[in-house]
Amino acid sequence: MTVTELRLYNSLTRAIEPFRPRTPGRATVYSCGPTVYSRQHLGNMRPYVLADLLTRVLRLQGLEVKHVINITDVGHLTDDADQGEDKLELAAQRSGSSALEVARVWTELFKRDLQRLEVREPDVWARATEHIPEQVAMIQQLEAKGLTYRGEDGVYFDTAKDPGYGALSRAKASAEHARVSAGASKRNPADFALWKFSPTEGPQRQLEWPSPWGVGFPGWHIECSAMATRHLGPHIDIHTGGIDHVAVHHNNEIAQSENALGVRPWVQVWMHGAWLLFDGEKVSKSRSHERLPPNLDDLSPLGVTPGGFRYYLYTAHYRSPLNLSGEALRGAETARKRLRAIVRAGAATDAAPTPPSSALGALRQKFHDALCVDLDAPRALAVLWQIADHSAPLPERAHLLRELGDVIGLGLAAPPPAMEDDALVESLVARRNQAREARDFALSDALRAELLAKGVIVEDSPAGSTWRRL
Ligand code: AMP
Ligand code: ZN
Repeated sequence: MTVTELRLYNSLTRAIEPFRPRTPGRATVYSCGPTVYSRQHLGNMRPYVLADLLTRVLRLQGLEVKHVINITDVGHLTDDADQGEDKLELAAQRSGSSALEVARVWTELFKRDLQRLEVREPDVWARATEHIPEQVAMIQQLEAKGLTYRGEDGVYFDTAKDPGYGALSRAKASAEHARVSAGASKRNPADFALWKFSPTEGPQRQLEWPSPWGVGFPGWHIECSAMATRHLGPHIDIHTGGIDHVAVHHNNEIAQSENALGVRPWVQVWMHGAWLLFDGEKVSKSRSHERLPPNLDDLSPLGVTPGGFRYYLYTAHYRSPLNLSGEALRGAETARKRLRAIVRAGAATDAAPTPPSSALGALRQKFHDALCVDLDAPRALAVLWQIADHSAPLPERAHLLRELGDVIGLGLAAPPPAMEDDALVESLVARRNQAREARDFALSDALRAELLAKGVIVEDSPAGSTWRRL
């Protein structure tokens, strides 16, 4: 098989370009991660399936990949205008636990959800609260270059001093900036907080650190710039995120990193995933859903597995919006099941795996080629069906389907997830309840983690603990 040149759509140049890593043979990838103040919904899963598909394809190209995903556990405010409350602090107040505990619980669940979707672990999970010195250092670099100013409530980046500001969205200040411009401290709508001071009145923040500017906490944007630099150095090959990051978060990341590090471009290729929609609107935590936005657990009553959901995400190109519907989800589940049935039937024949015939070999090449044109998953799925419906002998087709399914994380040969025995779950929950009553929180946390690893969520309320399967 020939390795086809990989071409990717670059949001910065708005063109599909050949991908050439800066260091031959190696690629670095940074993906903006979730803010871990609540459960990640189905929409949140989409950018990480994209990042996973990307890193799988980069490895197929023979590249050694270093992939970093961050965890935002401080500094993301309820209001994008650098005002409002810290989402983690707010969730901690509401739940009565500490902000770090809130972050830990939702981070674990997020990772567990990704595992169920066969999203591979990145090389580095970078938590914002564990990179405060790097963030302070980067702000100091910007300050030394005269690019910051001190406002009433924090230190701000002065976008007027950066002639290149806004290159990603090709706007110095966009409508999005106008929306987020409030805040007496700002000189310009596009300016953004690098460091916010802890309020002097009201309850004390849980997450705050001393800094050259006073006690406070970092802005959301500097977190990504500093963590990416710490783990990947001053140049990054590919930076991924959601389409919502283009106008503000990623323009700000570029402004900070390029000015602090003195490099341009900081990132070679910017990739952005499109929305997962529900009733034509993006699935969102803040949307006025009558109930919480759907997450991976909500799929099982529909008879849809995480693998079926992954298949469903592949039915649209990552740059196209995708509408969530029960019918489409069930269709994807059925399609994946049919492919799995072929793989299983082929394995049951006990025929030794044979290299594909030339006709199937050409389809294998076509599958890889589809992925090399800006990760065209829908086209790759179409090729899987050409293989499934081919007249070649079953074992050959089954073997190739299994191989190509693994390439894109479809798990066509994986056994269905094992169910833990209810009695075992009950006994672990009971032990955990005893630990809680004895105020042995270390043991109770450990037991909850153990249950989580078995796919069981325990929910505590004043009336006691209940459990349910993921
Ligand atoms: P958040 O935790 O809200 O910062 O979101 C984490 C990631 O999920 C970001 O990359 C967002 O762009 C992405 N995201 C949020 N909602 C959706 C959606 N409905 N469809 C696709 N991506 C989304
Ligand atoms: Zn980011």
